[in-house]
Amino acid sequence: MGAQQVRDGFVGLYGAEPEGVWAAPGRVNLIGEHTDYNDGFVMPFALPHVTVAAVSRRTDGLLRLHSADIGGGTAAPVELRVDELAPESDRDWTAYPAGVVWALREAGHAVTGADVHLASTVPAGAGLSSSAALEVVVALALNDLFELGLRGWQLARLCQRAENVYVGAPTGIMDQTASACCAEGHALFLDTRDLAQKQIPFDLAAEGMRLLVVDTRVKHAHSDGEYGKRRAGCEKGAALLGVDALRDVPYAELDAALGRLGDEEEVRRLVRHVVTEDERVERVVSLLESGDTRAIGPVLTEGHLSLRDDFRISCPELDLVVDTANASGALGARMTGGGFGGSAIVLAEETDVPAITKAVEEAFATAGFTTPRVFEAVPSAGARRLT
Ligand code: ADP
Ligand code: MG
Repeated sequence: MGAQQVRDGFVGLYGAEPEGVWAAPGRVNLIGEHTDYNDGFVMPFALPHVTVAAVSRRTDGLLRLHSADIGGGTAAPVELRVDELAPESDRDWTAYPAGVVWALREAGHAVTGADVHLASTVPAGAGLSSSAALEVVVALALNDLFELGLRGWQLARLCQRAENVYVGAPTGIMDQTASACCAEGHALFLDTRDLAQKQIPFDLAAEGMRLLVVDTRVKHAHSDGEYGKRRAGCEKGAALLGVDALRDVPYAELDAALGRLGDEEEVRRLVRHVVTEDERVERVVSLLESGDTRAIGPVLTEGHLSLRDDFRISCPELDLVVDTANASGALGARMTGGGFGGSAIVLAEETDVPAITKAVEEAFATAGFTTPRVFEAVPSAGARRLT
């Protein structure tokens, strides 16, 4: 997706050059799943796949939105008035960018309108955060054009608010922070309690390894409801244990904490996942920092088993990717993202990639599943201005 192409699209729609062109990436999460609403640790990195937006300011209160990816790009721009934006009033894709404008204005920033045209290479609904890429690219463009002076983490907070309140989707802070703040060749170690960040060098190619993303192309029904149930279960666990969030249960005291949960079997499983997952993130950080990159493979697989057996958000397609990849020589594999479909990641030696890819594709064909989309994920740059 080139800046020029999106610029040309803008000129065709609005009859003038845009003031600028911006890009924001999708992400995969290396480790730290379902920890971000428990004040815990996550470790995403940005994909080379980006949403690119050409944007100009307006001063007349009009917000015009157009996506090349909706309806073949042939529809007219959607026209909204910035002073009439209202949470949960819009069930369409425009709720994401309009929600960003709403959140900025709610926070007191004088955003007086804009013309927006965008196009994306981030697969939508694949668990790779096309929604965050869309929000962040719009937020960054408006931040620059209206000279708001907001930092990446502040834009991420506003985008999360747009998604939670305006769109009405309960999500944590990871996706937006990843899209806004990741750095090329690095994974982002993020403490979701205080948003403290550390860029961890993660250059697999230099060490002869690859990280594959396997998009299963399935999204099972009820995944939003299941997300809400897990979230509520985690909150119940924290309340029963008398802590603000499950992040406050030290790993060393996990057994004692589980003992105190008595016969709350479901809550016990959720707590065990979250507390062990935070520990896995810390373990991956220290392995990467000590240069022992291959040793993170088994930690990824451990994380998958915890999501499958304790958190119970995997599905047959995701399990098949993990089992097949590991049986074909992968260093480790896990589902990534919210669960019940979406994508899995596979860490492998470069030389094993063709055999693993073939084995996964064959296993899907044998099982009668939709052919998965397999691609290599190179840790890429976060949101930025292109022109
Ligand atoms: P994910 O973030 O995992 O890709 P979500 O369901 O959170 O999945 O977000 C996908 C939604 O975001 C799409 O249904 C659409 O409304 C919106 N979206 C994402 N990318 C684009 C795009 N390029 N153009 C228009 N809408 C988009
Ligand atoms: Mg999303």
